[in-house]
Amino acid sequence: MIKDKREVARRGEAAAIPTAWEYAPAPESREIVHFEDRYGLCIGGQFLEPLSNERYTTIDPAREEPLAEIAQAGKADVDRAVKAAREAYAERWSQLRPSERAKYLFRIARILQERSREFAVVESLNGGKPIRESRDVDLPLAAAHFFYYAGWADKLEYAFPNRTPRPIGVAGQIIPWNFPLLMLAWKIAPALAAGNTVVLKPAETTPLSALLFCDVVRQAELPPGVVNIVTGDGRTGAELVSHPDVDKIAFTGSTEVGKAIQRTLAGSGKRLTLELGGKAANIIFDDAPLDQAVEGIINGIYFNQGHVCCAGSRLFVEESIYETVISKLKRRMKTLRVGDPLDKNTDVGAINSKQQLDKIGSLVQSGIDEGAEIYQPPCKLPERGYWFVPTVFTNVAQSYRIAQEEIFGPVLSVLTFRTPDEAIEKANNTPYGLSAGVWTEKGSRILAMAQKLRAGVVWANTYNRFDPASPFGGYKESGFGREGGRHGLEPYVALDGE
Ligand code: ADP
Repeated sequence: MIKDKREVARRGEAAAIPTAWEYAPAPESREIVHFEDRYGLCIGGQFLEPLSNERYTTIDPAREEPLAEIAQAGKADVDRAVKAAREAYAERWSQLRPSERAKYLFRIARILQERSREFAVVESLNGGKPIRESRDVDLPLAAAHFFYYAGWADKLEYAFPNRTPRPIGVAGQIIPWNFPLLMLAWKIAPALAAGNTVVLKPAETTPLSALLFCDVVRQAELPPGVVNIVTGDGRTGAELVSHPDVDKIAFTGSTEVGKAIQRTLAGSGKRLTLELGGKAANIIFDDAPLDQAVEGIINGIYFNQGHVCCAGSRLFVEESIYETVISKLKRRMKTLRVGDPLDKNTDVGAINSKQQLDKIGSLVQSGIDEGAEIYQPPCKLPERGYWFVPTVFTNVAQSYRIAQEEIFGPVLSVLTFRTPDEAIEKANNTPYGLSAGVWTEKGSRILAMAQKLRAGVVWANTYNRFDPASPFGGYKESGFGREGGRHGLEPYVALDGE
C-alpha cells in the first residue's frame, strides 16, 4: 500500500498499487467427466435396469443442477446383487490363489491413480467438496488403500499367524456421502484382499463415483460379481442388512441408523462393524506451537465443510492462551475462501444436501438461543446451491446442544480448561469416542493424554491425518471395529476354523 497520497496523485490512478490482491478464478475443467443420463445397477459385471422401476435424480449441490438419473434398488434388486456376489464368491473369487487376488487389487489402485483427475471432478461435482481436497486427499488415499490391502492379500498367514484365516463370504457394505470414493475403498479393499465378494450401497446423494468405479472394475477385468453396486436410499440399505444370504455388514453413517442396524442383526449370527458419529475434542495446551495449532483447528473443523465424523468440532483451549488463540483463529477464518468446489482456490465448498443444510442451520440456531456467542467471517456466498459460512461459537457451556450433538457442518464450539485432568474430564464427556487432538510441546503429556482420552484415534500436533496402515474406528456410540491396517482385515476373515 502506498502511504504517501501525493505520490499516488503524482503517478495517477492507473499506477496506484492495489491494496489487496484478489484471487483470479482457477476452475478445474469438467470436460474430463462424462455422465450417462441414467444409470442402472452394477450387478454381476453388468449395468442392469432396476426391477423396482424406481429412479431418482442426483444433483450437484453447488449449483442445484441435476447430474443423472439413479436407480432406487428394491428388495428383488438387492437379492439379485447378493446372488451374483454369492456365485462369484463360491465359484471364482474364493478359489483364486491369493497372489492372483493381489494382482487385481494392484490393478484397481493403479487405474484409480491414472484416472484420479476424472474421479476428483466427479467427487466435487456430486458431493460439493473442494477440488483441492478431492484431488489431494480423497483420490490419493483411495488408491493407497487398494495398494496397501493388495499387499496383504497373499500374506494373511502372517497377519494372523497359526490361526488359519479364511474368507467369510458375501459382505454387505453401506457408506455415507462425505467421502464417497474413499469410504468405498476402505470397505472394498480389505474385503476383496481377504477373499470375500461385496455388495456395496453408496449414499443416495453421492452415487456417481461408486458407479464410475464399476468401470474401473471392468477395466481391471475383475471376475463378474466380485464387486456389485446397488444404489438407493435407506430402504435399499435396510434390504441389504436384512438379506439372509449376507455374511457380514459393514456400515459407516449416523449413530441412529447404526443402532437400528444392530437391532436388526441381533441374534442373526451375521458379523457387524459400525463406524458412526463423533464429537471430537481438539485440545490446545499453552505450550503448543500456536500458529500450527490454529492451522490444525481450521483443518480439524472446516476440512470438507465439517462433514467429517472425526472432525475436531469441540475446541478446548487452556484458559491462559484463550484470547490469543481466539483472535488468531478469527483472523485465519477471514482468509477462508468459500465457494465453487471446482475452483482450485476454494477452501470450503458446498454443503452436501438441503437436508444437511437445514440440520446445520437448526443446530446453529439452538446455539444462539442457548446463549453462545457466534462469529462468522464476512463472506459472499454464491446465490444458488447449499452453503454455510464457517462458524465459531464461544461462551459455550458443556450442556449446550452445540457441545453435545454432532453438527456435521463447518461449526466449531470453543470451551476452556485449566488443568490436563479437567481437559480429559470434559473431552470424555460425550456419548461418542471416535477421535481427539492434543497440541503441546511435551511428548510425555501427549502420551499421558492419549492414554486417558476415550477415543479410537488421537492425533498429536496435527489433525485429520490418515494412512491406510493405521487403524481407524471408535468407542461407545461411535461404533466398533477398525478399518485400515492389519486390524481392518479382521472383520473379513474367519479364524481358527470358525
Ligand atoms: P447421514 O446422517 O450421514 O446421512 P445415514 O446414517 O442416514 O447418515 O446414512 C448413511 C448410509 O446409510 C447411507 O448410505 C444411507 O442410505 C444408509 N441408510 C439410511 N438408513 C438406513 C437403514 N435403515 N438401513 C440401512 N442403511 C440405511
